[in-house]
Amino acid sequence: MNLANLLARAGRVAGADIAVSLGEAPVATYAELAANAAKLAGAMTVRLGLVPGDRVALLMSNAPFYVETLFACWWAGLVAVPINAKLHPREVAFVLADSGARLLIASPDHENDAWQAIGGLSPAPRIIVAEGGEWRGLRGGEVMGVAATAARDPAWLFYTSGTTGRPKGAVLSHSNLFAMCGAYATDVDKVEPGEALLHAAPMSHGSGLYLLPSVAGFGRQLIPESGGFDPDEIFALLKTSRSVSFFAAPTMVGRLVRAPAAGSADTSNLKTIIYGGGPMYLADIRAALDAFGPKFVQIYGQGETPMTITVLPRHLHVSWKDPASEARLSSVGYAQSMVEVVVGDEEGRSLPPGGIGEIFVRGATVMEGYWNDPAATARALRDGWLATGDMGELDPHGFLTLRDRSKDVIISGGSNIYPREVEEVLLRHPQVREVSVIGRLHPDWGEEVVAFVVAEPGISIETLDQLCVENIARFKRPKTYHFVEALPKNSYGKVLKTELREFKPPS
Ligand code: AMP
Repeated sequence: MNLANLLARAGRVAGADIAVSLGEAPVATYAELAANAAKLAGAMTVRLGLVPGDRVALLMSNAPFYVETLFACWWAGLVAVPINAKLHPREVAFVLADSGARLLIASPDHENDAWQAIGGLSPAPRIIVAEGGEWRGLRGGEVMGVAATAARDPAWLFYTSGTTGRPKGAVLSHSNLFAMCGAYATDVDKVEPGEALLHAAPMSHGSGLYLLPSVAGFGRQLIPESGGFDPDEIFALLKTSRSVSFFAAPTMVGRLVRAPAAGSADTSNLKTIIYGGGPMYLADIRAALDAFGPKFVQIYGQGETPMTITVLPRHLHVSWKDPASEARLSSVGYAQSMVEVVVGDEEGRSLPPGGIGEIFVRGATVMEGYWNDPAATARALRDGWLATGDMGELDPHGFLTLRDRSKDVIISGGSNIYPREVEEVLLRHPQVREVSVIGRLHPDWGEEVVAFVVAEPGISIETLDQLCVENIARFKRPKTYHFVEALPKNSYGKVLKTELREFKPPS
């Protein structure tokens, strides 16, 4: 069982179809992509001496060669270690050392970072720059057949985004990622041949994972020329590309909706926006649905069970204007078909519907464990159940509402306050753009509620406080408001609450 067979199959069945394009310019057909991956795999094996199970790190911006490199790794039985290209070289060095990568393939714009990152490493991985002279040479060589890998062999080391603590490498096997493809086709969307998957989000993360179901369905990988997320470019691509889907963090969806071009954009070619990776607030999904119609699917997942915990499918977004849809639209949907999801108490006992506790997941997509970290693996995987670190609540129909990560829950005067609930209320105000709520140590109460608000000018604390008084218990109201220009986010668009906790207001 080897993921590279998905590409080998596409090369045979849909060989003449465009597999990858840069903007609208075709880069490779499926036959060419499969041949190139087979050659790169052959060269990594024969010329560079890599053996199955060796790790190959990818430090690359989104680019057409990302697709080929990932598949070449699997084709040769190697383990891909996609690294967030926006990390600091010191952080890259950590991932390289932890994974024991023997080869680092960098995109030209990250060559300097690659050299800096390996500076202090011994042994250091060899560096090859994609599309450089050595790279081209490697692609001119020997073709190899797809390596025989076992279902549970590692395919992708997924380093957690590390919003707190040091990143850990979730070991995703071939089998985990095949199961993710199955869940995508069953629960999220059906890929038709030739449909485009637009990589507007980093390919080292969700967007790259989702190229697997897209290749499985003979879709086209559409890489924006900017290599990233640019609303104008997306609207321009939607004019010419047929049936486009993409994965976006909720913050990206918000930027798309607020982009000046959104109002007049023709989105008839937009098939699906799959959003997830962070909280989508009710006010924001409603605004997105108003703008683009019911073309949204929400997924909740984490690196440890890639893209696959729950799904809120398209049809449950359809009646977004109906107040009765509120509870479901505020939820992250129900368990995807490849996994079981329960909410448990501190002892891991499953709670009845309505109980708030930690979310546990079991099933075919759940990682093998953390790379080289048996202690962290033992904490995360208990009797086959993955402890997600997220808090939530299931309703009697199996719909999950996420609260917050357990470490973000605020305990004030002995009561639990879930920041998301407060954030949802503040976001109802039309002048409020973004909000993040945290707990700050307080001598009497343990913690007190503090809100960081990005808002249009003219908004007052009194108005926001009144909104809270009308909607939530008084003890949950923020005691302090900070109006800020922007919220600190990591490169995947997740708000960095750790930085907010360290925030010192200008005196
Ligand atoms: P990562 O492993 O970097 O993908 O981060 C996974 C974490 O992002 C999860 O454990 C959740 O805390 C959060 N997350 C993922 N999907 C959602 C979602 N749909 N809604 C809210 N939070 C989410």
